[in-house]
Formats: sequence, C-alpha cells, structure tokens
Amino acid sequence: MTAKLEIRDVHKSYGDKVVLAGMSFDVEEHEVVCLIGPSGSGKSTLLRCIDLLDPLDSGSIHLDGVDITAKNTDANAVRRRVGIVFQSYNLFPHMSVLDNCTLGPRRALGVDRKTAEAKARELLERFGLGEKVEEYPNRISGGQNQRAAIVRALMADPEILLLDEVTSALDPELVGEVLGVIRELAGRGMTMLLATHEMGFARDVADRVCFLHEGRVLEDAAPNDLFGSPEHERTAQFLRRVR
Ligand code: ADP
Ligand code: MG
Repeated sequence: MTAKLEIRDVHKSYGDKVVLAGMSFDVEEHEVVCLIGPSGSGKSTLLRCIDLLDPLDSGSIHLDGVDITAKNTDANAVRRRVGIVFQSYNLFPHMSVLDNCTLGPRRALGVDRKTAEAKARELLERFGLGEKVEEYPNRISGGQNQRAAIVRALMADPEILLLDEVTSALDPELVGEVLGVIRELAGRGMTMLLATHEMGFARDVADRVCFLHEGRVLEDAAPNDLFGSPEHERTAQFLRRVR
C-alpha cells in the first residue's frame, strides 16, 4: 500500500543555507499529521515544496504513488488536489468573502457562477460564516478571515489540505474558532498536514506528530508518545521551551 503522500529524502537549500536535509515521512489517507519544530526548521518550506510552489534540490514527493516532483508534472493539476492555507490572511481585500471563494473554481476549473456560489455559501454556512458572505475581508475578524481562507481552499475538493501555522497571526481569543474548523475537517476524514505551534491542539487532533530538527524528521510518533515521553533529548528540550 502506498501512502497518500510520501516525502522521500527531500533536500532544499537557499544559497548555502540548508533547510531540508533528507526529510522523509508519509501521510496516510484520512490521517492528520502535525509538523512541529523551532522557527526556521523548514516547516513552511516543506509545505511550499509539496504544493509545488518551490522546487526541490533533490528527493521526491509522491501523491497516491505518483511522483509530483517529476519534470513533466502539471503543477496546476496537483494544486487542485492539494489545498494550502498560509499563516497570514490570504483573502483578496477588494473582493467579498463569497467572491474570494468562487474566484478560483470559476477561473481555474470553469465552474459557472451559480454552482460555485451555491457551494461556497454551503461551506461558509457550515463554518459559521453564513452571515459574512457579502462582507469584505477588512470588515470581519482575523479568525473569520482564516476560516474563509480555509473554505476557499476547500472549494476545489482537495484530497489533502496543508495548513501553515494558520492560527499564529491571530489574537488568542480567535484561535479556538479556527482550530474548531480544523477539528471538524479531521472528524470528517480530511487528510491534513499542518505546521503548528499549538502543542495542545496537536496532541488533541493529530494522529502523528513529526518533530523537525536540522532539516530532517528527528522523531515521528503518536502525539501521546511524542509529548509524553519523547525519544530524543532534542525533542524534549524543544517541548520544555514551548510549554
Ligand atoms: P519554519 O516555517 O519552520 O519557521 P521556514 O521554512 O520558513 O521555517 O524557513 C527555514 C529557513 O529557510 C529559514 O532560515 C529561512 O530564513 C529560510 N528561507 C525560507 N524561505 C526562504 C527564501 N525564499 N529565501 C531564502 N531563505 C529562505
Ligand atoms: Mg513557517
């Protein structure tokens, strides 16, 4: 059985700064995997590489057993299957929440406006944004912006969702509502790979947690094992610092 996503010996440097130094791990279908590690440990770089926003130096990434980092890959086709949400607000400021959500499907997938809007309204409703569809991003809260950004990423029915510290730019009181959305998606079996510094949340929602150190996965374990009795002193050190 091949995993949904396989990261194989991925190397990536920026100039002489080595960021990913032989990173490998799998994400199974319906699994939620959290990436943790200090700032600068390569979490964002890896997620960008998976969404083909940044090329690898070597190694490969496989989606359903197919190497998506091969030269002949249709990157747009991959990006429709792999959704990504970033740390800071992603919505276009000059467009309503609804238009933000329907733009991609209408432009890239050729979905007609009516169909796209019906789908967006349904998803926005599901995530508590039913009243905000006509609002502009600067008139809703940061948490609502991030929830709308997640809805936008879901519009193409991605097979896997990559979330890059989606709560770290939020005021603390708004973090919970965004984590609630992720929890809901996890409950419905969405395959997710998320970089997070919310250790309590990772412990709660993740099937597996990967600790990144020096460009590799130093420890890859069930959350109770990794947080409860980390195998490596380096992991324990990191956990002591963030707690
Ligand atoms: P994390 O998300 O874990 O904090 P990043 O993947 O953002 O880590 O960054 C890893 C390292 O790569 C950092 O040292 C960062 O400065 C560097 N880096 C990331 N993106 C670029 C880039 N586009 N150009 C040069 N250096 C980069
Ligand atoms: Mg980052």
